[in-house]
Amino acid sequence: MPFSGENMTSTVYRADRIFDGERVLTEHAVLVDDKRIVDVVPLSDVASDLPVEEHAGCTLLPGLIDTHMHFMGWQGAVFLAYGVTTIRDTGNDLSWILQCREEWRQRDWPRIISLGPLLDGTPPNHDQVARAVSDTDSAVAAVTETAAAGVDGIKLYASIAAEWIEPMVEASHAAGLKASMHCLPHGVLVAARAGIDEFYHLDGILADVWPDRPPGWLNVWGDPGFDQTWDRQQEVADTLATTEIVSTPTLAYWDSQWRIRVEGPYPQERRYMPDDLFEWSSATPDAELGAMWRRAWEAALAFQGLLNERGVPTLAGSDTPCGGILPGQSLWRELQLLVATGLSSRQALTCATSAAADFLDRPELGRLREGAHADLVIVGGDPTEAIPDQPDVRVVVRDGVRYNPDELLRPADTLDSTWRDEPWGRQFAQHGEKRRAQGD
Ligand SMILES: [Zn+2]
Repeated sequence: MPFSGENMTSTVYRADRIFDGERVLTEHAVLVDDKRIVDVVPLSDVASDLPVEEHAGCTLLPGLIDTHMHFMGWQGAVFLAYGVTTIRDTGNDLSWILQCREEWRQRDWPRIISLGPLLDGTPPNHDQVARAVSDTDSAVAAVTETAAAGVDGIKLYASIAAEWIEPMVEASHAAGLKASMHCLPHGVLVAARAGIDEFYHLDGILADVWPDRPPGWLNVWGDPGFDQTWDRQQEVADTLATTEIVSTPTLAYWDSQWRIRVEGPYPQERRYMPDDLFEWSSATPDAELGAMWRRAWEAALAFQGLLNERGVPTLAGSDTPCGGILPGQSLWRELQLLVATGLSSRQALTCATSAAADFLDRPELGRLREGAHADLVIVGGDPTEAIPDQPDVRVVVRDGVRYNPDELLRPADTLDSTWRDEPWGRQFAQHGEKRRAQGD
């Protein structure tokens, strides 16, 4: 379809290359008309009377999707500045996050997908952002009522008893929703057999690969003896590959736990994240603990590598702001770490674009194609060959609204303090006080 200059609301974007969510195209352009992508076409098909916005030396990508994060209002602009135009909140206060999901268009925020609260056992691990259940009936009722409130998926948290998982999954699926889980105590195989669609953070495989492990979990992941479970890890990966389960490993969180302790935070993590929140949610320098986390992180990367080799689908999620990591930047770091587990840069990019959209059943996201939402990001350099952890984002378009990243980023000391009254602000304050009381 030749484009014509008569359509004055149109914008044609051109860069050295386009990653459309699956393929890399050169000598092509993206035509955006208001809130929708009209098409991606060869340059020769663009009418010569139409002005073209040129970005030499750049790559044009679909707006990125962070599939695991916990929202606070201050994060919205930071996500956009890094080219993240959709976020999936994986645990928050139900009415608060649904209100945010209503408002995203009026704010400088990405579009929001919500799993509602963490459905957890009693007492819940994070009481400000959880709904606690105590038996099968209350667990199923929590799923049904959360679904009826209009969430986009269901999240089971780490204190859910093993025997509640299957009825909760059935209730989720009956409501037309996928069920995702942080499988820490019971193992991932139990969850996969119960029909869980997606597992978070990888840490749950401990119960599967090392049944007679020592107490604790970080020390076990970071135990030099963990290597001896390598054969069993391969068997567990083989079994997971026979199921439909998807892995969202949040490697950026694992990474933060050794990096911040040993090397210190990225300057951006300190500049754009509120001081108290950074302190409450992140690590203090500690070489010994950092070294244990580093071994655990390496073990997690290796297991994710086994899943990649077997074709287990993977989504990119950061777990922002846990670990003191910055919205948006941490998703680029996640993509870089997925490359460290054996994916190509292009495959890693699909984990935050087309593969994420497919899992979320949102065909209008994650791809540059006719009819998709006008969500795109223009980045200096070529992330399809090498993912940067500090991307040079030039332009972000979210739902047809064009943003300059420099205007979105505000130093943390200029933010107002209303984040303290938000659900995760209260939650981190609680955890921070507990840590202070324990002298951590
Ligand atoms: Zn999380």
